[in-house]
Amino acid sequence: MKFRTGIGYDIHRLAAGRRLVLGGVRIPSPLGLTGHSDADALVHALIDALLGASGDGDIGRLYPDTDPKWKDADSAFLLKTVMARLRGAGYEVLNADVVVVAEKPAIAPHVGAMKRVLCPILGIEADALGIKGKTNEGLGPIGQRKAIACLATVLLRRKARRPRAQPRP
Ligand SMILES: [Zn+2]
Repeated sequence: MKFRTGIGYDIHRLAAGRRLVLGGVRIPSPLGLTGHSDADALVHALIDALLGASGDGDIGRLYPDTDPKWKDADSAFLLKTVMARLRGAGYEVLNADVVVVAEKPAIAPHVGAMKRVLCPILGIEADALGIKGKTNEGLGPIGQRKAIACLATVLLRRKARRPRAQPRP
């Protein structure tokens, strides 16, 4: 199989006194996302899409939140390690698309900065990464600013593997 798609979803609760990090970028906000790591829901959704596409499990299995090693972990670093796994298995990313469902703050002003962090890690050009903010129209916990959710899809291509060198007789 040459091409693989993957889908990822993540949601984190918002709380006062936490920093808000999305797409590897710190965003000024009175409320931040809570979680064991830096709670970057955008990067977590992206990681799950990548792992789903490559059939390599999910973020909870690779980086369990019961492991103190991942406390306050930089999710951009986790994404780098996931990309190293993917490349090791012969995959490259063709494009990725992300939706951030957040009532506030607006995502659009930060998309450029997010792309500058994420595109080099994913190994794609800026126009191959979509990042779109959507409000939840005031509905439910996201609309009440109790949480931010993210959805991501990716398309991977597996490069043709070189035939193994035959052992010399
Ligand atoms: Zn998460």
